Amino acid sequence: MIVKQQIKFILKLTVAHALYGLGVLQLWQRIVLRKKAVVLMYHRVLTKEDRAKTGSSPGIVVDRDAFATQMSVLKQRFKVLSVEEFANRMERSVPFEDSSCLITFDDGWRDNYAEALPILQRHQLPALVFLPVNFIGGPRVFWQEHLTHLAVRAVQLVRNDPGRRSQLHEGLAPMRLDSVLNLPDHDPRPAVIEAVRKKKGLAPALINATLASLTHALSMGGEELEEVDAFLSWEQVNSMARHGIAFGGHGAEHRILTFVPLDEARDEIRTSRQVLERGVPASVPTFSYPNGNWSPEVATLVKEAGYRLAFTTEPGFVSCDDDRFAIRRVNIHEGLMNSKPMFLARVVGLF
Ligand SMILES: [Zn+2]
Repeated sequence: MIVKQQIKFILKLTVAHALYGLGVLQLWQRIVLRKKAVVLMYHRVLTKEDRAKTGSSPGIVVDRDAFATQMSVLKQRFKVLSVEEFANRMERSVPFEDSSCLITFDDGWRDNYAEALPILQRHQLPALVFLPVNFIGGPRVFWQEHLTHLAVRAVQLVRNDPGRRSQLHEGLAPMRLDSVLNLPDHDPRPAVIEAVRKKKGLAPALINATLASLTHALSMGGEELEEVDAFLSWEQVNSMARHGIAFGGHGAEHRILTFVPLDEARDEIRTSRQVLERGVPASVPTFSYPNGNWSPEVATLVKEAGYRLAFTTEPGFVSCDDDRFAIRRVNIHEGLMNSKPMFLARVVGLF
């Protein structure tokens, strides 16, 4: 499987570099982005050291050096818009200039401040960051990263002390994660991340019970969680706002809005708006659906709460007369985009 993936990667790399060398990708960009914008969706920007420590899935991580390369491509080849300009064009149906671009980040990870901001500043590029407001300025982390760190700790503990196996097996079994205790890998982290990623959509009560039982079994407090997976503080949010970064809503608890009753979805959407209005008063009210899940009912709630735009995770380009509450985005993650041709191939929709 891994060999197959590597061959696929090398093929893509070869194709992207050949098309770039021939100028085909650049021509393709001019055709598909004529009077259109591409909205890029980032989550995390990490150094190599932090990538080895994170509990986040590779699907939401970009290497810091790759991010720097990507921003130089955007600066050279795209018209990067502020959210104000993007919103004004959509609301008034004024066509975008060719190859317009909006840079967005979901979740408000602390690395957006530490790693992404200096690179954005170097190129004087604006960006928009969506915040799940209850996580900002506090010690909580998302359950995926939390569970990954606990499960990795459990694997290491069982390797050192096989007598603890049955207790930890019991903690992991309700979420059917007990098989991670048998992982042969020297570093179990990548396989644990993948196993946890597949559990998206499980009932919060089951997830919380598993977190509690593992925390107890491992005698760990929340303070021992890896700093690397923390969220922004409000001081960092304000400092970014002073440097041209805008902020939008991403719910309060980061609940998947199509999985909860509409009343709860309404609360998530409203709380997000109210807290943001207090925290970053000058920002254009925009929203990003957590996990990308939305429905016409949820979009109506977002509209009613006073947001001007809402972003999905559905891939594609944006015209000024598209639905302002179902804006498409192109996800950028590591693996694919570590060179200029590969990044451009992704942005213009080839990969
Ligand atoms: Zn999110």
